[in-house]
Amino acid sequence: MKTSTKSTKYIFVTGGVVSSLGKGLAAASLGTLLEYRGLKVVLQKFDPYLNVDPGTMSPFQHGEVYVLDDGAETDLDLGHYERFTGGNLTKHNNLTSGQVYEMVLEKERRGDYLGATVQVIPHVTDEIKNRIHDVADEQKPDIIITEIGGTIGDIEGLPFLEAMRQFALEMGKENVIFIHVTLVPFIKAAGELKTKPTQQSVARMQSLGIQPDIIICRTEHPLDTEMRRKISMFCNVPQNAVIQAMDMEHSIYELPLELRKERVDRIACDLLRLETKRPDLTDWEKFVQRIISPSHKVKIAVVGKYIELQDAYKSIYEALTHAGAFLDCGLTIVRIDAEDIEKHGAEAYLSGVGGVLIPGGFGDRGIEGKIKAARFARETKLPYLGLCLGMQIATIEYARHVCGLEGANSQEFDANAPHLVVCLLEDQKDVEKKGGSMRLGTWVTDLRPDTRAYELYQSATITERHRHRYEVNPDYKARLDDAGLTISGASPDGTLAEIVEIEDHPFFIAVQFHPEFLSKPNQPHPLFRGFVRAVLESSELPLN
Ligand code: GLN
Repeated sequence: MKTSTKSTKYIFVTGGVVSSLGKGLAAASLGTLLEYRGLKVVLQKFDPYLNVDPGTMSPFQHGEVYVLDDGAETDLDLGHYERFTGGNLTKHNNLTSGQVYEMVLEKERRGDYLGATVQVIPHVTDEIKNRIHDVADEQKPDIIITEIGGTIGDIEGLPFLEAMRQFALEMGKENVIFIHVTLVPFIKAAGELKTKPTQQSVARMQSLGIQPDIIICRTEHPLDTEMRRKISMFCNVPQNAVIQAMDMEHSIYELPLELRKERVDRIACDLLRLETKRPDLTDWEKFVQRIISPSHKVKIAVVGKYIELQDAYKSIYEALTHAGAFLDCGLTIVRIDAEDIEKHGAEAYLSGVGGVLIPGGFGDRGIEGKIKAARFARETKLPYLGLCLGMQIATIEYARHVCGLEGANSQEFDANAPHLVVCLLEDQKDVEKKGGSMRLGTWVTDLRPDTRAYELYQSATITERHRHRYEVNPDYKARLDDAGLTISGASPDGTLAEIVEIEDHPFFIAVQFHPEFLSKPNQPHPLFRGFVRAVLESSELPLN
Protein backbone atom coordinates (compact mmCIF):
# COMPACT_ATOMS: atom_id res chain seq x y z
CA MET A 1 0.00 0.00 0.00
CA LYS A 2 1.18 3.47 -0.87
CA THR A 3 0.87 6.57 1.28
CA SER A 4 0.99 10.15 0.08
CA THR A 5 3.74 12.49 1.14
CA LYS A 6 2.08 15.89 1.24
CA SER A 7 -0.71 16.86 3.63
CA THR A 8 -3.45 16.59 1.09
CA LYS A 9 -7.06 16.61 2.28
CA TYR A 10 -9.70 14.38 0.76
CA ILE A 11 -13.39 14.74 -0.03
CA PHE A 12 -15.41 11.72 -1.17
CA VAL A 13 -18.66 12.35 -3.00
CA THR A 14 -21.27 9.61 -3.17
CA GLY A 15 -24.78 9.53 -4.59
CA GLY A 16 -28.00 8.22 -3.17
CA VAL A 17 -31.59 7.33 -4.13
CA VAL A 18 -31.35 7.68 -7.92
CA SER A 19 -28.71 8.19 -10.60
CA SER A 20 -28.40 11.33 -12.74
CA LEU A 21 -28.48 13.62 -9.72
CA GLY A 22 -25.66 15.73 -11.02
CA LYS A 23 -23.11 14.40 -8.55
CA GLY A 24 -20.30 15.24 -10.95
CA LEU A 25 -21.50 18.81 -11.25
CA ALA A 26 -21.89 19.12 -7.50
CA ALA A 27 -18.34 17.82 -7.00
CA ALA A 28 -17.02 20.13 -9.72
CA SER A 29 -18.88 23.13 -8.28
CA LEU A 30 -17.46 22.50 -4.83
CA GLY A 31 -14.08 22.36 -6.58
CA THR A 32 -14.73 25.80 -8.07
CA LEU A 33 -15.55 27.27 -4.67
CA LEU A 34 -12.52 25.74 -3.00
CA GLU A 35 -10.31 27.02 -5.79
CA TYR A 36 -11.72 30.51 -5.31
CA ARG A 37 -10.73 30.07 -1.66
CA GLY A 38 -7.14 29.81 -2.85
CA LEU A 39 -6.73 26.04 -2.65
CA LYS A 40 -5.25 23.78 -5.30
CA VAL A 41 -8.03 21.32 -6.07
CA VAL A 42 -8.10 18.27 -8.32
CA LEU A 43 -11.01 16.00 -8.98
CA GLN A 44 -11.06 12.29 -9.55
CA LYS A 45 -13.77 9.85 -10.62
CA PHE A 46 -14.21 6.21 -9.66
CA ASP A 47 -16.48 4.31 -12.01
CA PRO A 48 -17.64 0.94 -10.72
CA TYR A 49 -18.40 -0.57 -14.15
CA LEU A 50 -16.16 -3.31 -15.56
CA ASN A 51 -15.11 -1.64 -18.80
CA VAL A 52 -11.44 -0.66 -18.61
CA ASP A 53 -12.37 2.78 -19.88
CA PRO A 54 -15.37 4.33 -21.63
CA GLY A 55 -13.42 4.50 -24.92
CA THR A 56 -15.22 1.52 -26.38
CA MET A 57 -18.69 2.40 -25.08
CA SER A 58 -21.35 3.79 -27.38
CA PRO A 59 -22.30 7.41 -26.79
CA PHE A 60 -25.84 6.04 -26.36
CA GLN A 61 -24.59 4.17 -23.29
CA HIS A 62 -22.25 6.64 -21.85
CA GLY A 63 -22.41 10.03 -23.53
CA GLU A 64 -19.22 11.70 -24.67
CA VAL A 65 -15.80 10.14 -24.20
CA TYR A 66 -13.67 12.89 -22.71
CA VAL A 67 -10.00 12.84 -23.70
CA LEU A 68 -7.18 14.13 -21.49
CA ASP A 69 -3.77 15.55 -22.42
CA ASP A 70 -2.13 12.17 -21.84
CA GLY A 71 -4.60 10.46 -24.16
CA ALA A 72 -6.71 8.80 -21.46
CA GLU A 73 -10.27 8.23 -22.64
CA THR A 74 -12.40 9.09 -19.63
CA ASP A 75 -15.84 9.71 -18.24
CA LEU A 76 -17.50 12.95 -19.26
CA ASP A 77 -17.53 14.12 -15.65
CA LEU A 78 -13.80 14.76 -16.08
CA GLY A 79 -14.86 17.39 -18.60
CA HIS A 80 -16.86 19.14 -15.89
CA TYR A 81 -13.88 18.83 -13.55
CA GLU A 82 -11.51 20.49 -16.01
CA ARG A 83 -14.01 23.19 -16.90
CA PHE A 84 -14.95 24.05 -13.32
CA THR A 85 -11.40 24.03 -11.96
CA GLY A 86 -7.99 24.94 -13.31
CA GLY A 87 -6.32 21.54 -13.15
CA ASN A 88 -5.22 19.50 -16.15
CA LEU A 89 -6.05 15.93 -15.24
CA THR A 90 -4.29 12.68 -16.11
CA LYS A 91 -5.21 9.05 -16.52
CA HIS A 92 -4.90 8.68 -12.76
CA ASN A 93 -7.98 10.84 -12.28
CA ASN A 94 -10.40 8.25 -13.63
CA LEU A 95 -10.45 4.69 -12.31
CA THR A 96 -12.86 1.93 -13.30
CA SER A 97 -13.43 -1.48 -11.73
CA GLY A 98 -12.14 -2.88 -15.01
CA GLN A 99 -8.78 -1.16 -14.44
CA VAL A 100 -8.64 -2.27 -10.83
CA TYR A 101 -9.21 -5.92 -11.71
CA GLU A 102 -6.81 -5.68 -14.64
CA MET A 103 -4.06 -4.45 -12.30
CA VAL A 104 -4.83 -7.03 -9.62
CA LEU A 105 -4.89 -9.91 -12.10
CA GLU A 106 -1.68 -8.74 -13.73
CA LYS A 107 0.04 -8.78 -10.34
CA GLU A 108 -1.45 -12.16 -9.53
CA ARG A 109 -0.09 -13.66 -12.79
CA ARG A 110 3.31 -12.10 -12.14
CA GLY A 111 3.38 -13.75 -8.73
CA ASP A 112 3.53 -10.42 -6.89
CA TYR A 113 1.18 -11.67 -4.17
CA LEU A 114 3.70 -14.34 -3.16
CA GLY A 115 1.21 -17.17 -2.95
CA ALA A 116 -1.50 -15.30 -1.05
CA THR A 117 -5.19 -15.79 -1.79
CA VAL A 118 -6.15 -12.74 -3.82
CA GLN A 119 -9.26 -11.06 -2.38
CA VAL A 120 -11.42 -7.96 -2.68
CA ILE A 121 -10.18 -6.94 0.77
CA PRO A 122 -7.28 -6.12 0.84
CA HIS A 123 -6.04 -6.50 -2.74
CA VAL A 124 -8.80 -4.74 -4.66
CA THR A 125 -9.34 -2.09 -2.00
CA ASP A 126 -5.56 -1.43 -1.80
CA GLU A 127 -5.45 -0.86 -5.54
CA ILE A 128 -8.30 1.67 -5.24
CA LYS A 129 -6.63 3.50 -2.35
CA ASN A 130 -3.32 3.54 -4.23
CA ARG A 131 -4.98 5.47 -7.01
CA ILE A 132 -5.88 8.30 -4.63
CA HIS A 133 -2.28 8.42 -3.41
CA ASP A 134 -1.08 8.41 -7.03
CA VAL A 135 -3.02 11.60 -7.70
CA ALA A 136 -1.81 13.16 -4.45
CA ASP A 137 1.83 12.40 -5.36
CA GLU A 138 1.58 13.32 -9.02
CA GLN A 139 -0.51 16.48 -8.81
CA LYS A 140 0.26 17.67 -5.26
CA PRO A 141 -3.09 19.32 -4.60
CA ASP A 142 -4.38 20.74 -1.33
CA ILE A 143 -7.60 18.82 -1.84
CA ILE A 144 -8.64 15.82 -3.90
CA ILE A 145 -12.36 15.49 -4.50
CA THR A 146 -13.13 11.91 -5.48
CA GLU A 147 -16.56 11.14 -6.90
CA ILE A 148 -17.78 7.57 -6.74
CA GLY A 149 -19.99 6.76 -9.73
CA GLY A 150 -23.30 4.97 -9.33
CA THR A 151 -25.66 5.00 -6.37
CA ILE A 152 -25.34 3.71 -2.81
CA GLY A 153 -26.75 0.20 -2.85
CA ASP A 154 -25.17 -0.86 -6.16
CA ILE A 155 -23.34 -4.17 -5.72
CA GLU A 156 -20.45 -3.11 -7.94
CA GLY A 157 -19.80 0.05 -5.91
CA LEU A 158 -19.14 -1.83 -2.66
CA PRO A 159 -15.35 -2.32 -3.03
CA PHE A 160 -14.98 1.41 -3.67
CA LEU A 161 -16.98 2.34 -0.58
CA GLU A 162 -15.03 -0.12 1.52
CA ALA A 163 -11.80 1.38 0.21
CA MET A 164 -13.05 4.86 1.11
CA ARG A 165 -13.95 3.71 4.61
CA GLN A 166 -10.46 2.27 5.12
CA PHE A 167 -8.86 5.35 3.62
CA ALA A 168 -10.71 7.66 6.02
CA LEU A 169 -9.65 5.53 8.95
CA GLU A 170 -6.02 5.53 7.85
CA MET A 171 -5.80 9.25 7.08
CA GLY A 172 -7.70 10.53 10.13
CA LYS A 173 -10.96 12.37 10.56
CA GLU A 174 -9.57 15.87 10.03
CA ASN A 175 -8.21 14.87 6.62
CA VAL A 176 -11.17 13.13 5.01
CA ILE A 177 -14.84 14.03 4.66
CA PHE A 178 -17.79 12.41 2.93
CA ILE A 179 -20.44 14.30 1.01
CA HIS A 180 -23.59 12.47 0.04
CA VAL A 181 -25.67 13.86 -2.85
CA THR A 182 -29.25 12.73 -2.60
CA LEU A 183 -32.76 13.37 -3.88
CA VAL A 184 -35.54 14.89 -1.80
CA PRO A 185 -38.54 14.21 -4.03
CA PHE A 186 -41.71 16.29 -4.10
CA ILE A 187 -44.83 14.14 -3.92
CA LYS A 188 -47.52 16.02 -5.77
CA ALA A 189 -50.52 14.22 -4.24
CA ALA A 190 -49.28 15.03 -0.74
CA GLY A 191 -47.94 18.44 -1.73
CA GLU A 192 -44.80 17.64 0.26
CA LEU A 193 -41.10 17.03 0.01
CA LYS A 194 -40.12 13.61 1.35
CA THR A 195 -36.95 12.85 3.27
CA LYS A 196 -37.38 9.08 3.71
CA PRO A 197 -35.35 8.02 0.63
CA THR A 198 -32.48 10.18 1.90
CA GLN A 199 -32.73 8.67 5.36
CA GLN A 200 -32.63 5.16 3.92
CA SER A 201 -29.74 5.87 1.64
CA VAL A 202 -27.73 7.36 4.51
CA ALA A 203 -28.67 4.43 6.78
CA ARG A 204 -27.26 2.14 4.11
CA MET A 205 -24.00 4.08 4.08
CA GLN A 206 -23.83 3.95 7.84
CA SER A 207 -24.22 0.18 7.70
CA LEU A 208 -21.08 0.15 5.54
CA GLY A 209 -19.25 2.11 8.21
CA ILE A 210 -19.46 5.50 6.50
CA GLN A 211 -21.07 8.54 8.08
CA PRO A 212 -21.60 11.41 5.64
CA ASP A 213 -20.46 14.80 6.93
CA ILE A 214 -22.46 16.89 4.47
CA ILE A 215 -25.67 16.02 2.64
CA ILE A 216 -26.44 17.84 -0.60
CA CYS A 217 -30.16 17.55 -1.32
CA ARG A 218 -31.33 17.84 -4.91
CA THR A 219 -34.82 19.24 -4.75
CA GLU A 220 -37.39 21.01 -6.89
CA HIS A 221 -38.62 23.09 -3.95
CA PRO A 222 -36.70 24.92 -1.23
CA LEU A 223 -35.99 22.97 1.96
CA ASP A 224 -37.59 24.65 4.96
CA THR A 225 -36.09 24.58 8.44
CA GLU A 226 -38.25 21.66 9.49
CA MET A 227 -37.04 19.56 6.54
CA ARG A 228 -33.44 20.40 7.31
CA ARG A 229 -33.95 19.54 10.96
CA LYS A 230 -35.48 16.19 10.05
CA ILE A 231 -32.68 15.24 7.63
CA SER A 232 -30.12 16.41 10.16
CA MET A 233 -31.58 14.31 12.96
CA PHE A 234 -32.25 11.11 11.02
CA CYS A 235 -29.01 11.21 9.07
CA ASN A 236 -26.80 12.28 11.96
CA VAL A 237 -25.34 15.41 10.35
CA PRO A 238 -25.41 18.97 11.74
CA GLN A 239 -28.28 21.04 10.41
CA ASN A 240 -26.01 23.56 8.66
CA ALA A 241 -24.48 20.65 6.72
CA VAL A 242 -27.83 19.83 5.10
CA ILE A 243 -27.37 21.65 1.83
CA GLN A 244 -30.09 22.56 -0.61
CA ALA A 245 -29.36 22.21 -4.34
CA MET A 246 -32.33 23.25 -6.46
CA ASP A 247 -32.50 22.56 -10.18
CA MET A 248 -30.61 25.30 -12.02
CA GLU A 249 -32.93 27.48 -14.03
CA HIS A 250 -30.61 28.67 -16.77
CA SER A 251 -27.20 27.09 -16.65
CA ILE A 252 -25.11 24.48 -14.87
CA TYR A 253 -22.62 27.27 -14.12
CA GLU A 254 -25.08 28.70 -11.59
CA LEU A 255 -24.47 25.75 -9.29
CA PRO A 256 -21.27 27.03 -7.60
CA LEU A 257 -23.12 30.26 -6.79
CA GLU A 258 -26.08 28.35 -5.36
CA LEU A 259 -23.85 26.11 -3.27
CA ARG A 260 -21.96 29.15 -2.05
CA LYS A 261 -25.22 30.57 -0.67
CA GLU A 262 -25.41 27.44 1.48
CA ARG A 263 -21.78 27.90 2.57
CA VAL A 264 -20.84 24.35 1.61
CA ASP A 265 -17.23 25.39 0.89
CA ARG A 266 -16.92 26.96 4.34
CA ILE A 267 -18.35 23.89 6.07
CA ALA A 268 -15.97 21.59 4.16
CA CYS A 269 -12.94 23.74 5.04
CA ASP A 270 -13.92 23.86 8.70
CA LEU A 271 -14.31 20.08 8.83
CA LEU A 272 -10.93 19.66 7.16
CA ARG A 273 -9.34 22.28 9.44
CA LEU A 274 -8.27 24.43 6.53
CA GLU A 275 -7.67 28.14 7.00
CA THR A 276 -8.71 29.83 3.77
CA LYS A 277 -9.82 33.19 2.43
CA ARG A 278 -13.39 34.11 1.56
CA PRO A 279 -14.00 33.40 -2.11
CA ASP A 280 -14.50 36.39 -4.40
CA LEU A 281 -16.75 35.02 -7.13
CA THR A 282 -17.19 38.25 -9.10
CA ASP A 283 -15.68 36.81 -12.34
CA TRP A 284 -17.84 33.74 -12.16
CA GLU A 285 -20.96 35.80 -11.42
CA LYS A 286 -20.28 37.99 -14.46
CA PHE A 287 -19.81 34.93 -16.63
CA VAL A 288 -23.12 33.46 -15.43
CA GLN A 289 -24.89 36.79 -15.87
CA ARG A 290 -23.81 36.94 -19.52
CA ILE A 291 -25.25 33.46 -20.07
CA ILE A 292 -28.53 34.35 -18.39
CA SER A 293 -29.18 37.72 -20.04
CA PRO A 294 -27.03 38.20 -23.15
CA SER A 295 -27.22 41.31 -25.33
CA HIS A 296 -27.11 39.40 -28.63
CA LYS A 297 -28.54 36.22 -30.01
CA VAL A 298 -27.65 33.72 -32.77
CA LYS A 299 -28.70 30.30 -33.98
CA ILE A 300 -26.18 27.53 -34.60
CA ALA A 301 -26.82 24.09 -36.08
CA VAL A 302 -24.98 21.03 -34.82
CA VAL A 303 -25.27 18.31 -37.45
CA GLY A 304 -24.50 14.95 -35.90
CA LYS A 305 -25.43 11.38 -35.33
CA TYR A 306 -26.28 11.43 -31.63
CA ILE A 307 -28.14 14.72 -31.53
CA GLU A 308 -31.06 13.40 -29.47
CA LEU A 309 -28.64 12.66 -26.65
CA GLN A 310 -27.94 15.58 -24.38
CA ASP A 311 -24.58 14.12 -23.31
CA ALA A 312 -23.04 12.92 -26.56
CA TYR A 313 -21.55 16.29 -27.56
CA LYS A 314 -21.34 17.74 -24.06
CA SER A 315 -17.98 19.50 -24.34
CA ILE A 316 -18.98 21.05 -27.66
CA TYR A 317 -22.14 22.58 -26.21
CA GLU A 318 -20.13 23.83 -23.25
CA ALA A 319 -17.40 25.32 -25.46
CA LEU A 320 -20.09 27.12 -27.48
CA THR A 321 -21.60 28.42 -24.23
CA HIS A 322 -18.20 29.75 -23.09
CA ALA A 323 -17.66 31.53 -26.40
CA GLY A 324 -21.23 32.89 -26.35
CA ALA A 325 -20.80 34.25 -22.83
CA PHE A 326 -17.49 35.88 -23.80
CA LEU A 327 -19.22 37.64 -26.71
CA ASP A 328 -22.31 38.43 -24.63
CA CYS A 329 -24.27 36.35 -27.12
CA GLY A 330 -27.03 33.85 -26.37
CA LEU A 331 -27.03 30.72 -28.49
CA THR A 332 -29.92 28.71 -29.75
CA ILE A 333 -28.49 25.34 -30.68
CA VAL A 334 -30.46 23.46 -33.31
CA ARG A 335 -29.61 19.78 -33.21
CA ILE A 336 -29.97 18.22 -36.62
CA ASP A 337 -29.77 14.54 -37.41
CA ALA A 338 -27.38 14.11 -40.34
CA GLU A 339 -29.62 11.35 -41.70
CA ASP A 340 -32.48 13.84 -42.08
CA ILE A 341 -30.27 16.06 -44.24
CA GLU A 342 -29.20 12.97 -46.16
CA LYS A 343 -32.86 12.26 -47.02
CA HIS A 344 -34.29 15.75 -47.47
CA GLY A 345 -31.33 17.97 -48.37
CA ALA A 346 -29.46 20.63 -46.40
CA GLU A 347 -31.50 23.65 -47.32
CA ALA A 348 -34.64 22.50 -45.49
CA TYR A 349 -32.72 22.33 -42.23
CA LEU A 350 -29.96 24.90 -42.53
CA SER A 351 -31.45 27.88 -44.33
CA GLY A 352 -32.51 29.63 -41.09
CA VAL A 353 -29.34 29.08 -39.05
CA GLY A 354 -26.32 31.36 -38.62
CA GLY A 355 -23.61 28.70 -38.54
CA VAL A 356 -22.97 24.98 -38.87
CA LEU A 357 -20.86 22.80 -36.61
CA ILE A 358 -20.04 19.20 -37.49
CA PRO A 359 -18.72 17.26 -34.51
CA GLY A 360 -16.57 14.15 -34.31
CA GLY A 361 -17.89 10.67 -34.90
CA PHE A 362 -17.21 7.12 -35.99
CA GLY A 363 -18.89 4.91 -38.57
CA ASP A 364 -20.68 5.72 -41.80
CA ARG A 365 -24.22 6.48 -40.63
CA GLY A 366 -25.28 9.96 -41.74
CA ILE A 367 -22.01 10.71 -43.53
CA GLU A 368 -23.59 11.82 -46.81
CA GLY A 369 -25.89 14.14 -44.86
CA LYS A 370 -22.89 15.75 -43.19
CA ILE A 371 -21.22 16.16 -46.58
CA LYS A 372 -24.34 17.94 -47.85
CA ALA A 373 -24.30 20.19 -44.78
CA ALA A 374 -20.63 21.10 -45.34
CA ARG A 375 -21.31 21.82 -49.01
CA PHE A 376 -24.26 24.03 -48.13
CA ALA A 377 -22.16 25.96 -45.60
CA ARG A 378 -19.30 26.39 -48.08
CA GLU A 379 -21.49 27.44 -51.00
CA THR A 380 -23.83 29.75 -49.11
CA LYS A 381 -20.98 31.27 -47.05
CA LEU A 382 -22.42 30.08 -43.76
CA PRO A 383 -19.80 29.97 -40.96
CA TYR A 384 -18.59 26.38 -40.56
CA LEU A 385 -16.63 24.72 -37.80
CA GLY A 386 -15.61 21.09 -38.35
CA LEU A 387 -14.23 19.02 -35.50
CA CYS A 388 -12.28 15.84 -36.20
CA LEU A 389 -14.76 13.93 -38.38
CA GLY A 390 -16.06 17.40 -39.27
CA MET A 391 -12.67 18.12 -40.87
CA GLN A 392 -12.61 14.82 -42.74
CA ILE A 393 -16.12 15.61 -44.04
CA ALA A 394 -15.03 19.08 -45.20
CA THR A 395 -12.06 17.51 -46.98
CA ILE A 396 -14.15 14.89 -48.76
CA GLU A 397 -16.69 17.52 -49.77
CA TYR A 398 -14.00 19.83 -51.16
CA ALA A 399 -12.30 17.00 -53.00
CA ARG A 400 -15.55 15.91 -54.64
CA HIS A 401 -17.11 19.24 -55.53
CA VAL A 402 -14.20 21.64 -55.98
CA CYS A 403 -11.24 19.45 -56.96
CA GLY A 404 -13.48 17.28 -59.15
CA LEU A 405 -12.35 14.04 -57.52
CA GLU A 406 -15.56 12.15 -58.05
CA GLY A 407 -16.31 9.49 -55.45
CA ALA A 408 -13.71 10.86 -53.03
CA ASN A 409 -14.21 9.36 -49.61
CA SER A 410 -12.59 8.20 -46.40
CA GLN A 411 -11.26 4.69 -46.10
CA GLU A 412 -13.42 4.40 -42.99
CA PHE A 413 -16.62 4.70 -45.06
CA ASP A 414 -15.66 3.13 -48.39
CA ALA A 415 -12.30 1.40 -48.62
CA ASN A 416 -12.78 0.94 -52.40
CA ALA A 417 -13.50 4.56 -53.22
CA PRO A 418 -11.52 5.86 -56.23
CA HIS A 419 -9.96 8.70 -54.22
CA LEU A 420 -9.22 7.95 -50.58
CA VAL A 421 -8.62 11.54 -49.52
CA VAL A 422 -8.86 10.46 -45.88
CA CYS A 423 -7.14 7.21 -44.96
CA LEU A 424 -5.01 5.24 -42.55
CA LEU A 425 -1.34 6.05 -42.94
CA GLU A 426 1.21 3.30 -43.54
CA ASP A 427 2.76 3.35 -40.07
CA GLN A 428 -0.72 3.29 -38.51
CA LYS A 429 -1.58 0.08 -40.34
CA ASP A 430 1.14 -1.74 -38.37
CA VAL A 431 -0.15 -0.28 -35.11
CA GLU A 432 -3.66 -1.37 -36.10
CA LYS A 433 -2.57 -4.98 -36.16
CA LYS A 434 -1.35 -4.63 -32.60
CA GLY A 435 -4.74 -3.37 -31.46
CA GLY A 436 -4.00 0.23 -30.46
CA SER A 437 -4.65 2.40 -33.44
CA MET A 438 -5.96 5.75 -32.32
CA ARG A 439 -4.02 8.97 -32.24
CA LEU A 440 -4.90 10.05 -28.73
CA GLY A 441 -4.07 12.97 -26.47
CA THR A 442 -1.98 16.06 -26.99
CA TRP A 443 -0.11 16.63 -30.25
CA VAL A 444 1.70 19.70 -31.48
CA THR A 445 0.49 21.61 -34.54
CA ASP A 446 2.47 24.27 -36.39
CA LEU A 447 0.36 27.05 -37.86
CA ARG A 448 0.95 28.69 -41.20
CA PRO A 449 1.34 32.48 -40.91
CA ASP A 450 -1.25 34.65 -42.67
CA THR A 451 -4.05 32.17 -42.10
CA ARG A 452 -7.23 32.47 -40.08
CA ALA A 453 -6.02 29.75 -37.74
CA TYR A 454 -2.88 31.76 -36.98
CA GLU A 455 -4.91 34.92 -36.49
CA LEU A 456 -7.26 33.18 -34.05
CA TYR A 457 -4.60 31.44 -31.99
CA GLN A 458 -2.08 34.29 -32.17
CA SER A 459 0.65 31.70 -32.00
CA ALA A 460 2.88 29.73 -34.36
CA THR A 461 2.64 26.50 -32.38
CA ILE A 462 -0.30 25.02 -30.54
CA THR A 463 -1.10 21.77 -28.74
CA GLU A 464 -4.52 20.16 -28.94
CA ARG A 465 -6.13 16.88 -27.94
CA HIS A 466 -6.79 14.18 -30.52
CA ARG A 467 -8.92 11.03 -30.75
CA HIS A 468 -9.04 9.55 -34.26
CA ARG A 469 -7.61 6.92 -36.56
CA TYR A 470 -7.80 8.42 -40.01
CA GLU A 471 -5.84 11.31 -41.53
CA VAL A 472 -6.00 13.47 -44.62
CA ASN A 473 -4.13 11.45 -47.26
CA PRO A 474 -0.73 13.17 -47.77
CA ASP A 475 -0.94 12.31 -51.50
CA TYR A 476 -3.86 14.70 -51.92
CA LYS A 477 -2.67 17.51 -49.68
CA ALA A 478 -1.06 19.65 -52.36
CA ARG A 479 -4.03 19.26 -54.67
CA LEU A 480 -6.52 20.31 -52.02
CA ASP A 481 -4.34 23.18 -50.89
CA ASP A 482 -3.81 24.45 -54.46
CA ALA A 483 -7.56 24.32 -55.03
CA GLY A 484 -8.19 26.60 -52.04
CA LEU A 485 -8.59 24.28 -49.07
CA THR A 486 -5.63 25.78 -47.26
CA ILE A 487 -3.81 23.49 -44.88
CA SER A 488 -3.21 26.10 -42.21
CA GLY A 489 -2.02 23.71 -39.50
CA ALA A 490 0.18 20.63 -39.79
CA SER A 491 2.21 18.31 -37.59
CA PRO A 492 5.75 19.63 -37.02
CA ASP A 493 7.18 17.17 -39.60
CA GLY A 494 4.62 18.43 -42.09
CA THR A 495 2.98 15.08 -42.85
CA LEU A 496 -0.31 15.36 -41.01
CA ALA A 497 -2.90 17.97 -41.93
CA GLU A 498 -4.33 19.28 -38.67
CA ILE A 499 -6.32 22.33 -39.78
CA VAL A 500 -7.94 23.21 -43.09
CA GLU A 501 -9.65 26.46 -43.99
CA ILE A 502 -11.10 28.38 -46.92
CA GLU A 503 -9.82 31.90 -47.34
CA ASP A 504 -12.61 33.13 -49.56
CA HIS A 505 -15.33 32.50 -47.00
CA PRO A 506 -16.51 34.43 -43.90
CA PHE A 507 -15.45 31.53 -41.64
CA PHE A 508 -14.77 28.01 -42.80
CA ILE A 509 -12.34 26.16 -40.61
CA ALA A 510 -12.03 22.51 -39.68
CA VAL A 511 -9.60 20.76 -37.38
CA GLN A 512 -8.44 17.17 -36.93
CA PHE A 513 -8.42 17.55 -33.15
CA HIS A 514 -10.96 18.31 -30.43
CA PRO A 515 -10.66 21.94 -29.30
CA GLU A 516 -13.85 21.53 -27.26
CA PHE A 517 -11.82 19.73 -24.59
CA LEU A 518 -9.72 22.82 -23.87
CA SER A 519 -12.37 25.49 -23.49
CA LYS A 520 -12.97 26.97 -20.04
CA PRO A 521 -15.74 29.28 -18.76
CA ASN A 522 -13.68 32.45 -18.62
CA GLN A 523 -11.18 31.36 -21.29
CA PRO A 524 -13.22 30.30 -24.31
CA HIS A 525 -11.28 28.40 -26.94
CA PRO A 526 -10.05 30.67 -29.78
CA LEU A 527 -11.71 28.57 -32.49
CA PHE A 528 -15.10 28.59 -30.79
CA ARG A 529 -14.73 32.30 -30.09
CA GLY A 530 -13.88 32.95 -33.73
CA PHE A 531 -16.76 30.80 -34.94
CA VAL A 532 -19.42 32.37 -32.71
CA ARG A 533 -18.09 35.84 -33.55
CA ALA A 534 -18.38 35.09 -37.27
CA VAL A 535 -21.94 33.84 -36.77
CA LEU A 536 -22.79 36.94 -34.77
CA GLU A 537 -21.31 39.24 -37.40
CA SER A 538 -23.17 37.59 -40.24
CA SER A 539 -26.53 36.68 -38.73
CA GLU A 540 -27.44 38.34 -35.47
CA LEU A 541 -31.05 37.65 -34.54
CA PRO A 542 -33.40 40.03 -32.71
CA LEU A 543 -33.32 39.41 -28.95
CA ASN A 544 -36.99 38.54 -28.68
N1 GLN B 1 -13.85 8.39 -37.37
C1 GLN B 1 -12.81 9.34 -37.61
C2 GLN B 1 -11.44 8.76 -37.34
O1 GLN B 1 -11.31 7.76 -36.68
C3 GLN B 1 -13.02 10.59 -36.80
C4 GLN B 1 -12.91 10.39 -35.32
C5 GLN B 1 -13.47 11.52 -34.53
O2 GLN B 1 -14.21 12.36 -35.02
N2 GLN B 1 -13.17 11.58 -33.25
O3 GLN B 1 -10.46 9.29 -37.78
